[in-house]
Amino acid sequence: MSVQYHDLSAPAAERDWRQAIRRGMRGRCPHCGEGRLFRAFLKPVDACEACGEALYHQRADDLPPYIVITIVGHIVVGGLVLVEKFGDWSMGMHMLVWPLLTVVLCLALMQPTKGAVIGLQWALRMHGFGGSAPQVEVQPAASRTGGQ
Ligand SMILES: [Zn+2]
Repeated sequence: MSVQYHDLSAPAAERDWRQAIRRGMRGRCPHCGEGRLFRAFLKPVDACEACGEALYHQRADDLPPYIVITIVGHIVVGGLVLVEKFGDWSMGMHMLVWPLLTVVLCLALMQPTKGAVIGLQWALRMHGFGGSAPQVEVQPAASRTGGQ
C-alpha cells in the first residue's frame, strides 16, 4: 500500500514562453495555437473559441508600441543615415520613402507584437493567466477636504 501526497501549494506546470510568443505573433491563442487571438486589428477576443482560455485579462498596455517604436526607429534611422552617407537621394525622395516606410512597418508590426506580448503574459501567468482572479488595484481616494 502506498500513500500519495497531493501538495496544493506546488507550483503549476511551466509554460513554454517561446511557443506562446510564436503563437501570439501568428495571432493565435497562446494556449492551444488554434483559436483566433484578435477580433479586430488590436482588440483581443475575450476567450479562445477553440479551447476556452480566458484572454480578457491581458494587459499588454503600452509595451507593444514601445517595442515597435524601438524596432522601426532602428530600421528607419539606420537606413536614413546609411543613405545619407553612401547614397545620393534628393530631399523629395527622403520625404517620400522614410515616412511611408515608418507607417508601413508600424502597421505591419503592431498586431504581431501585441500578440507576442499577450503570449508572454500568458506563459508567465501574469494578470490572471495563472488561473486566479486578477488583482484589482485600489487607488487611494483623493481627499476633498484639503488635508483637514
Ligand atoms: Zn485556445
